[in-house]
Amino acid sequence: MFTCRNQSCGAEWALSDVVIKNEGQGLLFRCPMCGARNYVERHDADDGTATYEQITDIPPRGTR
Ligand SMILES: [Zn+2]
Repeated sequence: MFTCRNQSCGAEWALSDVVIKNEGQGLLFRCPMCGARNYVERHDADDGTATYEQITDIPPRGTR
């Protein structure tokens, strides 16, 4: 479960609700409700399945 880091939004999303992509600064998903960027980190398990962990130390909106 991910939580949108836009504090005025704060919506929660399952992995199946969001599209994870790389816009050049790492993997992220855009909140389907407000469009804020939320960065994630990919982990590949030994059995080949990928899981994503939300990164919480990057501001939700980049200035670059
Ligand atoms: Zn949001």
